[in-house]
Amino acid sequence: MSSEPSIFERIMAGDIPSEMVHEDDHAIVIQDINPQAPIHLLIIPRIKIPRLADAEVQHQAVLGHLMLLAGQMAEKMGCADAFRIVINNGAEAGQTVFHLHLHLLAQKRFDEGSLASPF
Ligand code: AMP
Repeated sequence: MSSEPSIFERIMAGDIPSEMVHEDDHAIVIQDINPQAPIHLLIIPRIKIPRLADAEVQHQAVLGHLMLLAGQMAEKMGCADAFRIVINNGAEAGQTVFHLHLHLLAQKRFDEGSLASPF
């Protein structure tokens, strides 16, 4: 794992500004800087797990927390009936920030999309 702080760690440290939607002891939720849908949030654990594939048993609670938070954020944004969660794992899958995060996307027509083009 890189010892360099990820861009999300720098946001959590207050070094980089962001549009914070939620923060708690285990995660933050921010607006994506380059939204791919009218609602596009990033749900980010405070602990740096580079990729989902790097998660281990000790991360089970925080992974569960991220999933619960996704539902709660969808409720908060008024899109609980139609939203999509995306996790890109690995550069070839489109991951650009190697600090695990969930994309929460909504208010976009998803029926034209496919799993190969989830945004
Ligand atoms: P991924 O490509 O799955 O790794 O997603 C990384 C996401 O982080 C992209 O959707 C970017 O638009 C977003 N992003 C990068 N830098 C920032 C930032 N400073 N504030 C908010 N979102 C960011």
